[in-house]
Amino acid sequence: MIRKIPFFNYPALFAEREAEFMAEIRRVLAAGRYILQAELRDFEAALEAFTGIRHVVGVANGTDALVLGLRAAGIRPGDEVILPSHTFVATAAAVHLVGAVPVPVDARDDHLMDPDSARAAVTSRTRAIMPVQLNGRVCDMDQVGAVAREHGLVVVEDAAQALGARFRGVSAGAFGVAAGLSFYPAKLLGCFGDGGAVLTNDDAIGEHVRWLRDHGRTDGPEVAGWAYNSRLDNLQAAVLHVKLRTFGSDLARRREIARRYDEAFRDLPGVVLPPAPTDEGPNFDVFQNYELEVDRRDELRGWLADRGVGTIIQWGGKALHQFKALGLERSLPVTERIMARSLMLPMNTALSDEDVSYVCGEVRMFHS
Ligand SMILES: *Cc1c(COP(=O)(O)O)cnc(C)c1O
Repeated sequence: MIRKIPFFNYPALFAEREAEFMAEIRRVLAAGRYILQAELRDFEAALEAFTGIRHVVGVANGTDALVLGLRAAGIRPGDEVILPSHTFVATAAAVHLVGAVPVPVDARDDHLMDPDSARAAVTSRTRAIMPVQLNGRVCDMDQVGAVAREHGLVVVEDAAQALGARFRGVSAGAFGVAAGLSFYPAKLLGCFGDGGAVLTNDDAIGEHVRWLRDHGRTDGPEVAGWAYNSRLDNLQAAVLHVKLRTFGSDLARRREIARRYDEAFRDLPGVVLPPAPTDEGPNFDVFQNYELEVDRRDELRGWLADRGVGTIIQWGGKALHQFKALGLERSLPVTERIMARSLMLPMNTALSDEDVSYVCGEVRMFHS
């Protein structure tokens, strides 16, 4: 029997906790608190407590979080910023939007930035390195940090896909001078629209981002400088605060699904899995996505679609350096291999155990 398993299921996630969401939304609307009000500060404080990071500043979306983080970190027009090509276009767009030059580098087998490729891309104009904590996994920050130290580079993290992930016990978002988070609906912690946050342990950068997001306004009569309108609105903050209450168990569920996929697919020929969730070793992964490599990727995708299972090829199958309009063309063999072979299976908290078993069974059937 065919079972319908969409790649993502927003209505199911809403229905699960509809009463809670609606009570909170009604409360905020009735109080007339829309912009920069108590619910925003309460949510920011809750996320500071969750991550252990000193400052969380809610902004309009994850791309803005990176733009404001880069600005506050002192990245200037003409500076070069090294980042992995295997990332969402927004990582590079943020660099471009502050007038700097994105320099895409290659990936390693875990699909994250290759620190050696990053080191080889350093020039006299390089100012920053932007590790992307992709698919809910933090890069090898020992090695990325070493490259940054060797060349005096600022680290700005793209943690849009990694809230709750850790490396050597340190939270994603805590490794650089600033980091960007996204609350896009499909992200680990998603709101009902767009949202994002800048994370920083640096008091001056925290304050800088607070005025950057609000037209340069501070407590006094002066504006502090040219700035943006990029605020996380109160209603989204209130919804996010509701979701944050179950976030720990949401992450545990994602890791459980990843464990079941790993057990089901480990022995399949022609399939390369992401690292399994483990409590040993430096990485604590939270599986924003479950991205595997498959020899017969497109065939498997069609097979699953015919059986009701939604899958996605990340970013439509292209990495940054493969988008002609961006002018970043170069040769990055590992990234190109990944883009030609990768597929993302359903990975979200709306999946039931039966859904997971069905996906496991169909992927195994394809390979038998
Ligand atoms: C989602 C995402 C962004 C951008 O976030 P938005 O909220 O969509 O602007 C940036 N980088 C990565 C890696 C992302 O996945």
